[in-house]
Amino acid sequence: GEPVHKTNSSKAIQSDIKTVKTNLEKLRGYHDLAKDAFDRAYSRDVEGAQADAIKLYRMGLSIVHEGLSLQVHSSGLGAGYSNVAKWRDDMTTWQEHVLSRLRDLESGGASTSSRRPPQRIVTSKRISAPATRAVRAVPAQPAPAGSQQDGRSGTGLGSKEEARLREVIEGEVLDTRPSVRWKDVAGLSAAKQALQEMVILPAQRADLFQGLRAPARGLLLYGPPGNGKTLLAKALASEAEATFFNISASTLTSKWHGEAEKLVRMLFKVAAEMQPSIIFIDEIDSILSERSAGEHEASRRLKTQFLIEFDGVANGSERIVVIGATNRPQELDDAVRRRLVKRIYIPMPDADARRELLKHLLRGQPVRLSRADMERVVNSTAKYSASDLAALCREAAIIPIRELGKAVSTVSADQVRAVELRDFGEALQSIRPSVNQEQLHRFDQWTQEYGTHS
Ligand code: ATP
Ligand code: MG
Repeated sequence: GEPVHKTNSSKAIQSDIKTVKTNLEKLRGYHDLAKDAFDRAYSRDVEGAQADAIKLYRMGLSIVHEGLSLQVHSSGLGAGYSNVAKWRDDMTTWQEHVLSRLRDLESGGASTSSRRPPQRIVTSKRISAPATRAVRAVPAQPAPAGSQQDGRSGTGLGSKEEARLREVIEGEVLDTRPSVRWKDVAGLSAAKQALQEMVILPAQRADLFQGLRAPARGLLLYGPPGNGKTLLAKALASEAEATFFNISASTLTSKWHGEAEKLVRMLFKVAAEMQPSIIFIDEIDSILSERSAGEHEASRRLKTQFLIEFDGVANGSERIVVIGATNRPQELDDAVRRRLVKRIYIPMPDADARRELLKHLLRGQPVRLSRADMERVVNSTAKYSASDLAALCREAAIIPIRELGKAVSTVSADQVRAVELRDFGEALQSIRPSVNQEQLHRFDQWTQEYGTHS
C-alpha cells in the first residue's frame, strides 16, 4: 500500500491547488465585475447622469480594490494563469483613470473639467491607444442637471417602464399575506433571537437603534436544506412591522431574466419608499455565486446591480435590511458575502427541536404514542432534517390507511386506527436522512471561517 506520509502530503498539495485555483477564478470574477461597472459608469457619464456614474465608478473601484488584494501566483501552470498579469494590469490602469475622473466629477458640477467628456475607461484595446479616443461616442450636450437622466432621484428608467416594473414588484414581490407565524417555526431559538434583535426590534424602535446600535443592513441565513430558512423568513414577514419583499433568485433569473437588473433597481427604490423594509432573497447563491460571475453578461450585470444597491443601503439612511438565504454558502461570491455581515446558522434540529416538530406535525391526527414511544422516535431521528421529519410523519400516517386495502373506499373516518410506534418503525426504513455527515462537516467549516459567533 501507499505510505501514509505520501498520501498526506499529496492531499495537502491538492488543497493548495484548490485554493490557488479558486483565487484565480475570483480574480477573473472581480476583473469582469469591475469591467462591467466601469462600462456602465462610462455610459451614464456620457449621458450626463453624473450621480449614477459616480456610484458606478465607486462600485468598480471597491471591486478593483478587493481584486487587487487577492493572492494569486501568476506563475501557476495551466490555462488562465497567463491572464493573471493582464487582469491585474487592467485593474490598475482602470483604477488610475477612474480616480482622476472622479476627482473631476466631484470637484463640483460647476467646474469645466466635470463637464468635459469622460475618457472611456474600459476598452478591448489598451487605454492609451490614440485610436480609442476616436471611437468615443460623446453627445454634443451634457444632459441638463435634474433631468430624468440624473441618477440622484431616479432609476435611470423611463417613466412608463418604471410604472410597469413597479406593478410587477407590488404585485409579485411585495408580500402582503404572510401566512406563517413565529410559533409555527419549531426550535431555532438562537436564530429567532438574533432576528429579533437585528430586524424586529430595530424596525419597531428606530429611535433606540441608532449610531452604535444601528442594525446590520445585510444578513444571511444558511444551513443544510430543509430546516426552516425559508419558513423562518416567512414568519419574519408577519412578525416584523416592516414591508416585506420576497424574491426568489430562481424567479429572478428564469422569469425576469432579461430584465432582472432593472427589476432589482426598482425593487430597492420601492423598498426605500415603503421603509422600514425587508428584502428577502431566497436561494441567493443561484444569482450571486462565484460561478455565475464571468459566465454570462446578464448575470454579471445583475450582480453588479445588487452590489450597488447593497452599498446604497449600507451607506444610506433608509431603513432597509437585506436578508439572503442559502444552503450553499461556500458558493457565495466574496463581494456578496462580505456585505451580508451577520450570518446566522440554521442547524439540523436537536432532540428538543425534533420533539417539538413531531408534536407539531402530528397535531390533529389520531396518534397513540406514549411519552417513551415519543422519545424512541426522537432518538432514532438524530440525523433527520426538519423536512425529513415531515416526510417521516406523512409516511407513518399513511400506513394505517394502506392496511385497509380495498376497504378504504367504504370505511368511515373514525374506524381508521391511530398511528403507533410500529408505523414509525416502518416509516424509518423507507424515509432516510437527506443530509449526510460530510455535508454537515462542510457547514461547520464554513461557520468556523465566516459565521457570526455571538
Ligand atoms: P432549503 O435550503 O432547501 O431552501 P429551507 O431551510 O429553506 O431549505 P424550508 O423550506 O423552510 O427549508 O423547510 C421545508 C419544510 O420543512 C417547511 O415547509 C416545513 O414544512 C418544514 N420545516 C422545516 N423547518 C421547520 C421548522 N423549524 N419548524 C417547522 N417546520 C419546519
Ligand atoms: Mg429554502
